[in-house]
Amino acid sequence: MAQRQRMGNQPMIVLSEESQRTSGKDAQTMNITAGKAVAESVRTTLGPKGMDKMLVDSGGSVVVTNDGVTILKEMDIDHPAANMIVEVSETQEEEVGDGTTSAVVVAGELLDQAEELLDQDIHATTLAQGFRQAAEQAKEILDEQAIEVSTDDHETLTQIASTAMTGKGAESAKDRLAELVVDAVIAVADDDDIDTDNVSVEKVVGGSIDESELVEGVIVDKERVDENMPYAVEDANVALFDGAIEVKETEIDAEVNVTDPDQLQQFLDQEEQQLREMVDHLVDIGADVVFVGDGIDDMAQHYLAQEGILAVRRAKSGDLKRLARATGGRVVSNLEDLDSDDLGFAGSVAQKDIGGDERIFVEDVEEAKSVTLILRGGTEHVVDEVERAIEDSLGVVRTTLLDGQVLPGGGAPEAELALQLRDFADSVGGREQLAVEAFADALEVIPRTLAENAGLDPIDSLVDLRARHDGGELGAGLDAYTGDVIDMEAEGVVEPLRVKTQAIESATEAAVMILRIDDVIAAGDLRSSGNDDDGDDMPAGGAGGMGGMGGMGGMGGAM
Ligand code: ADP
Ligand code: MG
Repeated sequence: MAQRQRMGNQPMIVLSEESQRTSGKDAQTMNITAGKAVAESVRTTLGPKGMDKMLVDSGGSVVVTNDGVTILKEMDIDHPAANMIVEVSETQEEEVGDGTTSAVVVAGELLDQAEELLDQDIHATTLAQGFRQAAEQAKEILDEQAIEVSTDDHETLTQIASTAMTGKGAESAKDRLAELVVDAVIAVADDDDIDTDNVSVEKVVGGSIDESELVEGVIVDKERVDENMPYAVEDANVALFDGAIEVKETEIDAEVNVTDPDQLQQFLDQEEQQLREMVDHLVDIGADVVFVGDGIDDMAQHYLAQEGILAVRRAKSGDLKRLARATGGRVVSNLEDLDSDDLGFAGSVAQKDIGGDERIFVEDVEEAKSVTLILRGGTEHVVDEVERAIEDSLGVVRTTLLDGQVLPGGGAPEAELALQLRDFADSVGGREQLAVEAFADALEVIPRTLAENAGLDPIDSLVDLRARHDGGELGAGLDAYTGDVIDMEAEGVVEPLRVKTQAIESATEAAVMILRIDDVIAAGDLRSSGNDDDGDDMPAGGAGGMGGMGGMGGMGGAM
């Protein structure tokens, strides 16, 4: 290292002494190794028989998970190239919600295949072009194979929801959960888009997973503000007020300067009068329940209770929004502006016990555009992992409803792609042909890993799978439970098309980006940064390195 730095002295005058430069083959090898290491770290979790990881952070808190993106986020990765692979899983999570492990594993395998070709003196640019061409072709092939699903095909939607939960903590109750997920996503769907954030998840420790349920409405993590208020209100007109039922502070401050006791009494009466008017306004417009974003004065609480109004204070703005969607009401921030038209409606608003906590349930609404999944499980770690499985599942049902296209799972699409891309490679010719072939080989990492993780012989499984695809069985995939190659669609193992196309796209982009880098200039020491005692400097150093790398990609291309 020292020698390299001395050699590079002249052109490096612009860099500070702590900077470190790695170029050419060394840079490529370093980045490829880092990228592959990331993929390797999640490989064993892939598929229905994948194992879980236990992650312990510096504070000692523990996460047990099978979810690719969660593992990578929890791991404290700070190599810049490794981070590019982590980003693949993050993009996958944002775009489709599932397939995060697959995307990373494919990216790692692309790097592995690329390494061999680089060793044979195939230029990185040729590789990049070949990979990109193969990825384009792969998307076309997948599009052709896609199976159409209509939005009212409940059975297929449930299968998709269920496939996304396979191998996660939710396994034992996945049929029940899959139905809840489908109902939830359909309930919150708008005409033009579906925001799964409108499906809230309430985790309850205690009970078993299959006692989980869907509340078509909102659960607010609050209690009624005064115990003289009703526990429950039927056929409730619901007011949503994002303000305070209090008299403004400045007016109270004025009291301090009051010397005459009569004057003080006058002030207090005035204050009471104002609060009374605020409550009267709510009564006048016909509110039976009021959710208030800020505080409610004690005196106002008393008046509200007298009027039989159920009031909740300090409701979060997210809750107010959800309540508005669910009840058809409108959140108003100025009490005088609140009108009867702004009120929402719910057949039932009630304070109930859930897992030992009192919450306000707002249900029996006309069209619940916001719903709550109550997840139960034996322990906190179990419920947390079920929640992650549910998040994936919500994502795939959403994607399917939006796109209407699915593919069989169990490695079927990857096996078919490998076959067809090898044919395609012949038409490419030149050295890029080798890159396309390598791309085809790389995709087979999915069925191979599914087999390995299921304790099967990966070679036997692949040979079997290839033969069936050669014979024209597009949907032939690996049954991870029996080891047989079966028709995955018939088995009900289906996934959204976009899970596969997005994974291929991001994996290719990340691999290509890493391959094109031939120079890494870091503002600090890249290799030893993990052992540094000064924790504060590490993220900054990492970020600096990343910024440098972004620019490097372009430079590599220019050479
Ligand atoms: P990811 O984070 O990539 O979604 P998973 O651990 O969820 O990782 O595994 C997904 C892979 O498991 C997909 O290739 C999917 O087709 C496959 N899979 C899911 N269910 C089954 C099943 N019952 N049999 C075989 N493969 C399955
Ligand atoms: Mg998955």
